[in-house]
Amino acid sequence: MDVIKALAAAGLLLLLGDFVATFCYHVPEHVFGKFHNIVHHSPRRSFVRYALRTRQPLALLDGFCSALPYFAFVPLLWLLSPWGIALGLLLAEGHVIWRHRFPPQYCTPDWLKILCRWIGITTPERHWIHHRYGYRAFGDIFSFYGKPAEMWLIWLRWVKRKGLASGTEASPAP
Ligand SMILES: [Zn+2]
Ligand SMILES: [Zn+2]
Repeated sequence: MDVIKALAAAGLLLLLGDFVATFCYHVPEHVFGKFHNIVHHSPRRSFVRYALRTRQPLALLDGFCSALPYFAFVPLLWLLSPWGIALGLLLAEGHVIWRHRFPPQYCTPDWLKILCRWIGITTPERHWIHHRYGYRAFGDIFSFYGKPAEMWLIWLRWVKRKGLASGTEASPAP
């Protein structure tokens, strides 16, 4: 029974964390943000190294915000299973490391690719597509968040364009 509770807590932590991370941080960051595109989509990807090198501590906040959604559900899921939370956080961190094993150095075995497609887990190859084309293949852990995230991106871009257009209209002619 405790095992089932732990697995449920781990699964919920990953599902809810990735949902909030994708729709409240990752996609808005691609539209309105700065550091995710510059830092995470660069070959080095380290917010700490970037903040030190460029003397922009604000970049650290961005890195912190990318992890925060997974920790936000800890108090809620603690009631279900503290062990499950530990398992969920370990799996989330493990997936971060795994999904950044980019080709050509890494190729997911066929059996694992099939399993990931079946469950809806993002493979390193899929995440590589996101790193190359920032408007595609969202869903850091779960690939089924990808399509709605792309629609969310289109809508947020439209909002941004509207906002910029109305801002230009409101400003007096030079
Ligand atoms: Zn990434
Ligand atoms: Zn991104």
